Amino acid sequence: MAEVIYDHVTKRFDSVVAVNDLTLEVEDGEFLVLVGPSGCGKTTALRCLAGLEEVTSGDIVIGDRVVTHIPPKDRDIAMVFQNYALYPHMTVYDNMAFGLKLRKVPKQEIDRRVKEAAEILGIQDLLNRKPRQLSGGQRQRVALGRAIVREPQVFLMDEPLSNLDAKLRVQTRGELIKLQRRLGVTTIYVTHDQVEAMTMGHRIAVMNQGVLQQLDTPENLYDRPANLFVATFIGSPAMNIFPAQVVGGDGTVQLVAGDVKLEAPPSHRNRLADYVGREVLVGIRPEDLEVVAGNPESEGGDTVRLPVELIEPLGAETLVHLRGPAGTLIAQGEPRIHLDPGDVVTIRVRKDHLHTFDPQT
Ligand code: ADP
Ligand code: MG
Repeated sequence: MAEVIYDHVTKRFDSVVAVNDLTLEVEDGEFLVLVGPSGCGKTTALRCLAGLEEVTSGDIVIGDRVVTHIPPKDRDIAMVFQNYALYPHMTVYDNMAFGLKLRKVPKQEIDRRVKEAAEILGIQDLLNRKPRQLSGGQRQRVALGRAIVREPQVFLMDEPLSNLDAKLRVQTRGELIKLQRRLGVTTIYVTHDQVEAMTMGHRIAVMNQGVLQQLDTPENLYDRPANLFVATFIGSPAMNIFPAQVVGGDGTVQLVAGDVKLEAPPSHRNRLADYVGREVLVGIRPEDLEVVAGNPESEGGDTVRLPVELIEPLGAETLVHLRGPAGTLIAQGEPRIHLDPGDVVTIRVRKDHLHTFDPQT
């Protein structure tokens, strides 16, 4: 086990800056998720750590060693790839044992480690099979097993669940979390899936276009996104975003969008004072737009009246699409709410959960 440090790491491929000045410290034993849209540099960041890519500049530290120019095999890491990269002609046992044989680990020790890992993963009965005789989920376990037997200081995982169907992915996600907590090995896990990131990581590093946007706990990313990118990337359905004019006077600050006027909560007043007379982007999550039951004409204060465009009953909740002042707003309603398109409903805005963003940033 070890901590991992990216110290101002940049990786260029000709004109493409795949990873741009990444500085990041992963704690010993931590499960850190690197998340971001396709092409944002996640795999490249992981490959730099593994030594599969030479960094253009910066340093990488694993434990107490600077490994920037150390070859992959000497970095004491194990990587699980998206496609599992199993050897098709070898049995499960040999696939798991292979890396250890290369390292001249004694046969008995190999046997002990393979059997132990197989037991942890529940694949004891599959050791004599070939990869083609396994389901996707079983192959995924073998790939994990191959990493576990190495007893590395760090696990690197690049979208290891993305080839599994949705149900198995959710199940395996839970098992991976338990496995990591049990083994306590520092893990860096790459995914483009923000739900996976939010459920698995002790902390999450959000990347966009090669640049780290925010490194934080799932709670903080959700409640205190550092910028508009993080705000809209994390959360499903996405945070509602709409432009509003900042209007000041008499010690109050109002956010005005069409005929909707909201008094800014006290926590935002100072910040918004600088924006009076200008436009900001307002963010509010669907669950912070509450459809008021009974549909009163007015509740006063923090409510607005908006027409319903569409209802999406999802079982545990209903998404209510509303015609907002500047496009659709999505509110989260009760599971069996009865509404029809065209109905005008009262929405209570949880103003203390509002976010505001500078449109220039
Ligand atoms: P992600 O894993 O987040 O989808 P990648 O790290 O694979 O992103 O890619 C980041 C950027 O670097 C992309 O623009 C990609 O096209 C580019 N890239 C990755 N690998 C190479 C390579 N070997 N040669 C040239 N460009 C590459
Ligand atoms: Mg990738």
